[in-house]
Order: sequence, then C-alpha cells, then structure tokens
Amino acid sequence: MAHKISDECISCGTCVDTCNFEAISEGEDKYIIDKDKCTDCGACVEVCPVDAISPE
Ligand code: SF4
Ligand code: SF4
Repeated sequence: MAHKISDECISCGTCVDTCNFEAISEGEDKYIIDKDKCTDCGACVEVCPVDAISPE
C-alpha cells in the first residue's frame, strides 16, 4: 500500500519536505509518490492545501 496524489494537485511542493522517506517528487503534470518508498505514515495528507493526497 502507498498514498497517492490526485489530479487536484497544484504542484505547490509543500508535501515534499514533510515526507521523511523521500517518497514524493515532482512529476510531469503533478507531484507523485513512489510506491516503493511510501510507508503510509500519512504525514503528507495533513499539509496539502487542496486535499490531493489520500490512501490508495
Ligand atoms: S504517506 Fe508518509 S511516506 Fe507516504 S508519501 Fe506521505 S509522508 Fe511520505
Ligand atoms: S501539497 Fe498537495 S498540491 Fe502541493 S505538491 Fe503536494 S500534493 Fe500537490
């Protein structure tokens, strides 16, 4: 399991620094979460201003 970022993402970059596992990076159209690195800790969910991050 891993969290995922929806198309609602406005690419603000806020979530990147909240991830202690370096699972979030900038993708082509939006930010993306590396499934292999995400531990489902949920920390990034709280900081997203547009609620784009959710458990998969
Ligand atoms: S749920 Fe945790 S590990 Fe997964 S991307 Fe968000 S902050 Fe990183
Ligand atoms: S905090 Fe939300 S809107 Fe900002 S880059 Fe992350 S997923 Fe996208």
